[in-house]
Amino acid sequence: MAFTPYWWEAAPRLERAEPLPAAADVVIVGSGFTGLVAALTLARNGRMPLVLERGAPGFGASTRNGGQVGSGNQKFRVKTLIALRGREKAHAMLREGVAMLDHIAALVEDEGIDCDFTRCGRLRGAMRPEHYEAMARDMDDLRALAGVESHMVPRAEQHREIGSDLFHGGSLLPGDAALHPSRYHAGLMARVEAAGGRIEGDAGVGAIAAEGTGFAVSTARGTVRAGAVLVATNGYTDGLVPELGRRIVPVGSALIATGTIPEARFASLMPGGRVYGNTLRVFSYFRAAPGARRIVWGGRVGRGMEAASPGAYGHLAGDLLKTFPDLGDIPVTHGWDGRIGYTYDAVPHLGRTRDGLFYALGYCGTGISRASWFGRRIALRMLERPEGRSAFDDLPFPAYPLPSVARRMVPVVEGWYRLKDRLGR
Ligand SMILES: Cc1cc2nc3c(=O)[nH]c(=O)nc-3n(C[C@H](O)[C@H](O)[C@H](O)COP(=O)(O)OP(=O)(O)OC[C@H]3O[C@@H](n4cnc5c(N)ncnc54)[C@H](O)[C@@H]3O)c2cc1C
Repeated sequence: MAFTPYWWEAAPRLERAEPLPAAADVVIVGSGFTGLVAALTLARNGRMPLVLERGAPGFGASTRNGGQVGSGNQKFRVKTLIALRGREKAHAMLREGVAMLDHIAALVEDEGIDCDFTRCGRLRGAMRPEHYEAMARDMDDLRALAGVESHMVPRAEQHREIGSDLFHGGSLLPGDAALHPSRYHAGLMARVEAAGGRIEGDAGVGAIAAEGTGFAVSTARGTVRAGAVLVATNGYTDGLVPELGRRIVPVGSALIATGTIPEARFASLMPGGRVYGNTLRVFSYFRAAPGARRIVWGGRVGRGMEAASPGAYGHLAGDLLKTFPDLGDIPVTHGWDGRIGYTYDAVPHLGRTRDGLFYALGYCGTGISRASWFGRRIALRMLERPEGRSAFDDLPFPAYPLPSVARRMVPVVEGWYRLKDRLGR
């Protein structure tokens, strides 16, 4: 079993370790989708961005995720959003969420990125009958407020979508999509470099200090002077910028890939050819790997085990078997994990710190479309272009009351949610 992302086999991490320049127009910390889409936007508008990455480029969540692409609204319950933000603001956020999905589709198309992007649709299976009813109401609200097309698939008809009896029907969002994360990332890297931007791996930023009208960005490989800095570290945010470190809690998330499934059995598992998930708080999500008869299955990380050991992924294989009991003889070939960035208010944020650093982060686990969108918005804002405005601009960005305690509490909170899932609360 390999303990690196299945996706890396089709698009391995590329080393980039040229001597760092003394100066750049903009330094971007973090080489995921946020950093690269921002870099591409800046480079295409005449600014020379330098992306600095602690690991190899694409080390973080952007090449480790499930490749399920939704709108920016996946984590929102429409009624809750209205209650918290008011109808007008909720409306603006939901509309922008829909635009995020259209944006990534257009970006892949316009840039000609070969990453198996397909509008395959998403089926979310109800784990309890009451979940089905709640999803139906939420889908009605989403349609009324943001014009999102959706259908409910009753339990009696779910076999046309999925060869499993685990669910009590589900909701179908036909416009949702799938892509190959690592190939999307590789495509973005190529476009950034072709546009004149630079990306450097093995260049962890240790400090950012104000200097004159700009910043001095220090790495173990030297210091770069920058006119502006964008922090795009999402789930890998640490104490580099304490103001952001207090606002992001990293949460581990893990995936497995199965070996090849015999054709006759594979055809009946996911006949709808969607991306799939369920309605639990600590949820599972899965899909077929593009161009292969394998399943890529995601969920929580295994606790108390070495990440590079089969035991750390046994619970994911167990969840897969509960859904598809016929796959007991199929091996798990890959297991890996990554970090998602959670905010206290469960909303992503972009803006500027008190010290003038730009940031875009906090995607709370659904970040492929959100990070791509926020990368572009924040770059347009750095360019002082009016299109950089976002419905998320003026949201207060709350700090966690006790950030270090919150970080340590992640397993406890997750355990509590799993208990609630089991009890059906
Ligand atoms: C296992 C997993 C599954 C997921 N599945 C999905 C999914 O199916 N659909 C979906 O929409 N979203 C999914 N997500 C979320 C999505 O992948 C992320 O929201 C998105 O990739 C975030 O992109 P990013 O560029 O902001 O951050 P990242 O891609 O995480 O990049 C941040 C980078 O910053 C670097 N960094 C941190 N500190 C420094 C420093 N001091 N100096 C230099 N570099 C630094 C890190 O090394 C990292 O590479 C998943 C995430 C995980 C972990």
